[in-house]
Amino acid sequence: MKILVLNSGSSSVKYRLFDDGTTIAKGLIERIGESGGDASDHTEALQHVMESVNLDGLGAVGHRVVHGGTEFSDATVVDDTVATTIENLIPLAPLHNPAALSGIEVARKLLPDVPQVAVFDTAFHQSIDPAGVTYAIDADLADRWQIRRYGFHGTSHAYVARETAALLGLPATSAKVITLHLGNGASACAVSGGRSAATSMGMSPQSGLVMGTRSGDIDPTVIFHLHRVAGLPLDEIERSLTRFAGLQGLTGDNDMRTIQQRRDKGDPAATLAFDVYTRRIREYIGTYLAILGGADAITFTAGVGENAPAVRAAALQGLSPLGIEIDPERNNRGDRIISPDGAPVTVCVIPTDEEAEIARQVAEKLTT
Ligand code: AMP
Repeated sequence: MKILVLNSGSSSVKYRLFDDGTTIAKGLIERIGESGGDASDHTEALQHVMESVNLDGLGAVGHRVVHGGTEFSDATVVDDTVATTIENLIPLAPLHNPAALSGIEVARKLLPDVPQVAVFDTAFHQSIDPAGVTYAIDADLADRWQIRRYGFHGTSHAYVARETAALLGLPATSAKVITLHLGNGASACAVSGGRSAATSMGMSPQSGLVMGTRSGDIDPTVIFHLHRVAGLPLDEIERSLTRFAGLQGLTGDNDMRTIQQRRDKGDPAATLAFDVYTRRIREYIGTYLAILGGADAITFTAGVGENAPAVRAAALQGLSPLGIEIDPERNNRGDRIISPDGAPVTVCVIPTDEEAEIARQVAEKLTT
């Protein structure tokens, strides 16, 4: 089946065309709405896509949508009701859902006879037990304002967990895998039998691991303190914690390559940032070993996870009593399996492919 996957951001549309799982075209329309940009709006952007690729015989369009709330636990064919539900979820993802919705609306208009399927970043985590998604706050407030853990990067975690089980020859329905998506955004996930059992991101993509520009877990009192004692307005605190925190906040740089270069030269801020970043990963691995009751595999993915052997080694340091070890040569080469032969826990490096996973879920949705 020919499937067009669209990842619509506020100022860009990334697209990839698959034919029976094989990529036959891809591209990026950038700086939408800016002077000198590739398109004036999402309609023009999609028109560009339609002009540049051959959509004859197109079977479906798959849309990446960040937030599906509790309403969507699976890829979903978009009709008016689904589009309205995605719109109603905008308060939970004000930066992301509007762009996805524009992409969906334009595609429905320009390709009215082609099924449009929404694939949600949150959907994979809908399988987590209530105890794993409930914040211990006033239950009425939480209920009224939809406050709970949703989790994100679900498409990536689902993809690499399945690839890990396949690589190890384990049945996907029983494999226990801890997946570490370490990109500019970063999250950990405990996957049991192909289902998410725990994840580090929460109501928003702000919690959990240390990220390029986001703090990850902090005590909420930090916010009250910055407001009441330091006198910062709330929107400035939000900006600080989402755009000037994480590696950026600790060092002034958000790119792990730069942090590593600075650390190699003995820079104390970069060294501390590296240690904070890798220790947090180790803390989550410990937590997820407890949640899963042990793991068959730990898998690194995304920009940092796929390309930074020093991060992988530091994150797993000291875990050999738990059966977790790295073979330095395999790690430095970036082999698919970087643990020694016969290690109780297999450590893997698997490139993520969110678009391929979206196409797979769309095909599965429309053929079953
Ligand atoms: P992603 O969000 O998955 O595209 O990951 C982007 C991040 O990956 C960048 O911000 C870098 O920090 C990181 N990255 C990419 N290549 C490398 C590398 N060779 N070593 C360390 N980090 C890398």
